[in-house]
Amino acid sequence: MHEMSIAVNIFRIIREKLKEMYSGYYPVKKVRVVVGKMSTVVPEALEFCFQSAGCGTIFDGAKFELVEIPMKIACQDCKEEMAIDEPFLFCRKCESFNVEVVSGRELYVDTFEIDEDAGIIETDRNEFE
Ligand SMILES: [Zn+2]
Repeated sequence: MHEMSIAVNIFRIIREKLKEMYSGYYPVKKVRVVVGKMSTVVPEALEFCFQSAGCGTIFDGAKFELVEIPMKIACQDCKEEMAIDEPFLFCRKCESFNVEVVSGRELYVDTFEIDEDAGIIETDRNEFE
């Protein structure tokens, strides 16, 4: 499952950041992920993977927020910019295939919040998976 490897990647990115900032971990309260509609991620599946793989780790019980970015293309011929619902890359106005993707391919961790009051954790479960 593609979503599971993305969830594991999200954990890795946040752990690396925490390790770099605090030389340890804190329980994570909230994670916000930005996903472009062209990235073929199923939001519900990603949240499920995040919650289940996060069990017993610093991500246990963290709120998962997903921001979806619409698909947008810019036509290089007629210069029109437009939002599209289907990932077919042609201009809806002049039918040119000479288009560029403006948005919709995003996939990254936007922000996350930690619970500093809970105290620092030296090693997290599943850290080395
Ligand atoms: Zn056009």
